Amino acid sequence: MSDVIVIKVGGSAGINYDLVCDDIAALVKEGQKLILVHGGSHETNVISEKLGKPPRILTSPQGYTSRYTDVETLDIFAMVYAGKMNTRIVERLQKRGVNAVGLSGIDGRLLEGPRKASVRAVVDGRQMLVRDDYTGKVEKVNAGLLNLLLDNGYVPIVTPPASSTEGEAINVDGDRAAAMIASAIGAKQLIILSNVPGLLRTFPDESTLIPHIRYAGLEQALSFAEGRMKKKVLGASEAIAAGVKQVVFGDARLASCVRNAMAGKGTVIEG
Ligand code: ADP
Repeated sequence: MSDVIVIKVGGSAGINYDLVCDDIAALVKEGQKLILVHGGSHETNVISEKLGKPPRILTSPQGYTSRYTDVETLDIFAMVYAGKMNTRIVERLQKRGVNAVGLSGIDGRLLEGPRKASVRAVVDGRQMLVRDDYTGKVEKVNAGLLNLLLDNGYVPIVTPPASSTEGEAINVDGDRAAAMIASAIGAKQLIILSNVPGLLRTFPDESTLIPHIRYAGLEQALSFAEGRMKKKVLGASEAIAAGVKQVVFGDARLASCVRNAMAGKGTVIEG
């Protein structure tokens, strides 16, 4: 196990990137090695609307949601995630004296996995197959590239898209990508920050925060999660199964959010 931590910060409304970057900069200055993985879902929705191509969300028969990503959507997705969001986070960290390096998953095949030939979705109660979707699941991480940067004092800032096995850009889930990174580099902790205090038993009642979940209890925890939160629980479960000791869901709206999560504030998931 290495002493690196992997932090995933979501892309939902309300997340305070300045506070996240304040905390990261302070930790890096104390010698903490870390990798930041980020999303951009909210901003992608806003820009998609502006471009006259409103987002379409697919729901799988198991209730997981994902963005319908045809070629045009993939371009918007890459513009926002690997362009605007990534550049602005790198900029925030550079301003704070951190030598951050932005990478999307297709750079150096950092995140790689097969593109799905088709995606099963439920539309108006009926199952259908979507074939022009550029999505997939990360199965391989170029840990050598990350270690090269970390060992030379750089802080990698990673975002989808990933690379398909054929080298195409594909949309992948950021939480599950962060889980794969954490296991590939043997991270001691995976911190997943979002615009909620953690997993809530009854969303959106914040007084129902679940402070601790054992791996065996994740199946039940999944039943509390709705919408995109399901992917976070799935990512946490995949990370623990792949050897990550601890996953923490923390609140990215607050000061010291990374430090709080490192100390176990939020929902702590352990094997
Ligand atoms: P991000 O973009 O930050 O990765 P998402 O929007 O994808 O985050 O997922 C977090 C969202 O999940 C919360 O904003 C909340 O609306 C939703 N959610 C659904 N069920 C729950 C739950 N049980 N506990 C906490 N959040 C939940």
